[in-house]
Order: sequence, then C-alpha cells, then structure tokens
Amino acid sequence: MPTVVMKFGGTSVADAEHCLAAARRIVQAKLDGNRVVATVSARGDTTDKLYEMAYEIDENPSRRELDMLVSTGEQISVALMAIAINKLGHKAISLIGSQMGIFTDDSHGKARIADIQPGRIEEELNAGNVVIGAGFQGVTVRAEITTLGRGGSDTTAVALAAAIKADLCEIYTDVDGVYSADPRIVPNARKLDRIYHDEMLELASMGAGVLHPRAVELAKKFKLPLCVRSSFNNTPGTVITEESDEMEAVIVRGAALNSNEAKVTVIGVPDQPGIAARILGAVASRNVNLDMIIQNVGRDGKADVTFTVMKSDLPDALDACNMAAKQLGAAGVTSDDSIAKISVVGVGMRSHSGVAEKMFRALADKEINIQMISTSEIKISCVVGEDRAADAMRAVHDAFELDKPENERSYSGITHIPGAFPEEH
Ligand code: ADP
Ligand code: ASP
Ligand code: MG
Repeated sequence: MPTVVMKFGGTSVADAEHCLAAARRIVQAKLDGNRVVATVSARGDTTDKLYEMAYEIDENPSRRELDMLVSTGEQISVALMAIAINKLGHKAISLIGSQMGIFTDDSHGKARIADIQPGRIEEELNAGNVVIGAGFQGVTVRAEITTLGRGGSDTTAVALAAAIKADLCEIYTDVDGVYSADPRIVPNARKLDRIYHDEMLELASMGAGVLHPRAVELAKKFKLPLCVRSSFNNTPGTVITEESDEMEAVIVRGAALNSNEAKVTVIGVPDQPGIAARILGAVASRNVNLDMIIQNVGRDGKADVTFTVMKSDLPDALDACNMAAKQLGAAGVTSDDSIAKISVVGVGMRSHSGVAEKMFRALADKEINIQMISTSEIKISCVVGEDRAADAMRAVHDAFELDKPENERSYSGITHIPGAFPEEH
C-alpha cells in the first residue's frame, strides 16, 4: 500500500471550515488506498501571536522557553485535525514531535533534525489510523522541546516522508504552487510546473517563503518526490524534481526577496591577515549564521568588514563585533536593518554570461542603489534598501520576462548545456 505525507500550512487549517476541508482531502487520500501521515502547522497567525506574547514580557526571552511556548500552536492544530477526521467517520490519532520520535540537536529556535524513530507512527498506521503529526517541533535526547525555525513544518513533513519511506510528500498551501516570484509582491508572477531541487533550494534559502530550505535539502538527499499545491483547489501544483535533460536549463527560473536580514559593518580594522577570521569567528561562535560578506580595503592600512545576518541574530552579532572591534582597535561598528536582498536563480546560469549585467541594468534603470552583491554558480543576489525592495523585484522580474513561458522570452531564456544533447556531439 502506498504511503503519502500531506502537509497543511497555517492558512489551510486557520478555522473550523478550513480544518474540515483539509480533513476531507486527507480522508480522500486514505479512501484512495494510501497510508496517510498528515503534518499540520499552527492555525493562521497563532505562531506570531505566541511570539508576541513572550516579547510583551521580555524583549530577549529564553530560547528554550520560547520553544516551549510556540510549539503549542501545532499541538492545538493536530488535536483539532484528528477531531475533524473522527467527525468524518475515520480513525485518526494526533502526535506531537516527541511522540513521533523526531529527535533534534539542542539549537532552540533553529534546531536540526538528527534522527527520526518512526516506530510509533508505523504502529498507528498499521492499526489503520491516519497519523496527524505536529509540524515545526522536535525533542532533544534530554526531552527538551525544540522548534525547527519559522516555516519548519515543511521540513517535518519531508523528514517524516523520508523516515517512513513515503512514496510522495505533498505540501498543501495557500498558493497554487511555486511561482517565478512571490505573487503577493509580483502580481504577474508565473506558476512553475516543475523546478529543480537546486533551484528551489536557492530560492527558498534566498527568501521564497513557500518552502523551508531544509525541506528541499532533505527531499533532494532522499530523492523524495515533493510537490507544492493549493489546499483550496485541485490544480496540479509544482513538482520539485531532480535535474534531467528532459527539462531545459533555464537561465533564470525565479526571483526571491529576503527582508529578514540586517547588515553589520566593522569600520577601520587593521588590514592584516587574520582580521576577517577574528571578527567573523567571534560572530560564528555565537551560533549566528553569516550570509553575504565583503571586505573593503580602505585607506591607511585600514579596512571595513561588512556582512549580513538574520535580523533576529543582530543583537548577538553586534555584541560579538563590539567586543572584537575593541580588541582589534577598530574605529567602530554600525548596523542597518532596513535592507532587503533580491536574488535571481536558474541552473542555466552555469553556462550563460550576462545575467548579472542584466540584473544591475534593471535596477539602475529604476535608480535603485545596490549596496552589496554576491553570486553562486546558479544565483545572483543584490542588497538594496528595504524601501525599494518590491520595486526591485518587479523590475528584475520584468527584465528577465519571468511572466512569459520560457520559450517565449525575447532574450535567450533557455541554454543548451554543451554535450547534454546527442546532436551536439
Ligand atoms: P504555509 O502556511 O502554507 O506554510 P507560507 O505562508 O509559509 O504558507 O507559504 C506560502 C506563501 O509563500 C505564499 O502565500 C506566498 O506569498 C509566499 N511565496 C514566496 N515566494 C513564493 C514563490 N516563489 N511562489 C509561491 N509562493 C511564494
Ligand atoms: N507555525 C510555524 C511558523 O509559523 C511553522 C510553520 O508554519 O511551518 O513558522
Ligand atoms: Mg510555510
């Protein structure tokens, strides 16, 4: 009997009506002859509300207690979903992370799944139950509750699917699939039928909130069929797939915006070997992930080191930099949290030049200043002022004609990778 994992996001279970609609889909999958595990997120904006409750009391609450608090959102959802399925006349059992054997490391708020012991899930499936599992949460070996980072229920779903060797993992959400850009920001964004794992991973890591990056990483690692689709209609959605010659290597598949980062600059550090390692090492030792990093060579043997971090990590990063700056005799530390990073992604970039130039031109034409630039094999990112972020996204989306089907774009939207096609030999 095939096994499917179906994940429903916050809007898809926001109230009784939505919860029952999702329950009907789950029941249908069961009636179609599948063993079904459904993962659900907290309802609507419950998670935001829970965080707010903590921040009303303390602006820097204990991360352990935050996890204890925000993990309750999913506990509410799983119980309600099991009640809804029971109401429809079917057997279901709700389980939280610890009951599902989802073990994580102890990085509260951004824990990584280390192991899943799916014995209980298998037991319940064998007993004919639909298993409703809480997304977003896990437990350490010391039985401490952890969460996987915002949007982490996607990762729970994919990790469970891998652990129980599911045949398919479906992510049901409030959009019809993965688009060329966030349709809330770029109204003429185009729905993609398929996208490669690496492209989806870059887009998700660069801020496309439709999927949690770690979920894509796991789907790729375990070669798990993953699909994003709407919980409100029956359109087919987007398949996240392995790279193959069947699909053309498009230069730019999509664009993403990330407004969750802040920029930190350590000014006037001595321009000597080992300085970047000292500063960035001090930040990393606080368990803060660095994203873009630039070192500008200034005058008189002094340099500036600039990097970006998640806004939520800014206090820790500043603290570490201020201490390092003092020790190194740097002139000072500044920060700016009104920045946004826009990125374009496509595997065709590997074999095509001129993409960066086109992106910079599109931004220049709108008089949008670029503050930082970074590139990878299949991605180009620019940091711009937060106030121009939406304009920047639309300008770049238009420049690459991402609203059009790939073969109708006026610039060469498709590249042929040399040697990939027999006639080129
Ligand atoms: P859920 O609660 O179902 O997990 P999310 O809000 O986390 O839903 O993700 C869905 C949202 O992701 C969409 O409503 C959309 O605004 C946003 N989004 C960002 N980038 C994209 C993209 N490239 N394609 C589709 N949706 C995107
Ligand atoms: N409820 C969590 C959040 O809001 C997890 C999720 O929705 O995936 O981030
Ligand atoms: Mg989500």
